Amino acid sequence: MKILKCRVSQSLWDLIEKRHKTSGESINHIIATALADGLKVPDYGTLFQVSTSGALVEGVYQGAISVAELMKHGDFGLGTFEDLDGEMVALNGQCYQARADGTVTIADQKAHVPFAVVTNFKPEQTVKLPSISSFNGLTRHLDQLRNTENLFFALKIEGTFDYIKTRVVCKAKGPETLVESAGKQTEFEFSDVKGTLVGFWTPEYARTINIAGYHLHFLTDNHKSGGHLLDCRAKELTVKIEHSANFRMAIPETATFLKADLTRDPSKELDQAERQH
Ligand SMILES: [Zn+2]
Repeated sequence: MKILKCRVSQSLWDLIEKRHKTSGESINHIIATALADGLKVPDYGTLFQVSTSGALVEGVYQGAISVAELMKHGDFGLGTFEDLDGEMVALNGQCYQARADGTVTIADQKAHVPFAVVTNFKPEQTVKLPSISSFNGLTRHLDQLRNTENLFFALKIEGTFDYIKTRVVCKAKGPETLVESAGKQTEFEFSDVKGTLVGFWTPEYARTINIAGYHLHFLTDNHKSGGHLLDCRAKELTVKIEHSANFRMAIPETATFLKADLTRDPSKELDQAERQH
């Protein structure tokens, strides 16, 4: 971090103080975000989410925005495609689509997205993990890297996986809930494969809009295979982590979203759909 000293006019200072008093933001934060806006710096530390996990549980699979529009808000993240047509992995500014037939392609810029989370990833910490023998083993190590239960975290985990199990949802043929769709998922197992896990940790209090806990998608280094992570084993992985204290959500105005009943707590169904293996 650098310390910036500069002279500003009294009127500008008055405005900064007024903002500080009314919004509670620190003066550091006000100036850093104003500079970032003025210099058109990507929104680091901001998550951009399309729709809610609760809507997905209710079967709202109609695309809300295009891949091209989504990728304006981040270079890193995960999601799914219209009608649940596979798993999305956004990595290094490229959006990949892993389909249930086992193929991975670069997603069509015009493809529609019903649910996704992206960020401009800028890791704050890089840590080497010791050997892990399961998904739960991995999450126990990742827990040590978070200093709070109340912010969002973006995670990038790279290395050679001795074993990895992923699933890819099948394109829905008609109206169905996420649990029904996930019941028809295709599962894939890989051994001794190099790749990257991309994803997020979401606080428990956000469980009606996102998937609480860890949610990770996998992409092999050759970009030929991937999916939603169910299990893994590895001897040495490198984790990069960034906290996110800003959260933006694009709420769809599609007909199915507007009519959906989103009053229920979706966490049980999400747990079943996202972690079943
Ligand atoms: Zn997923």
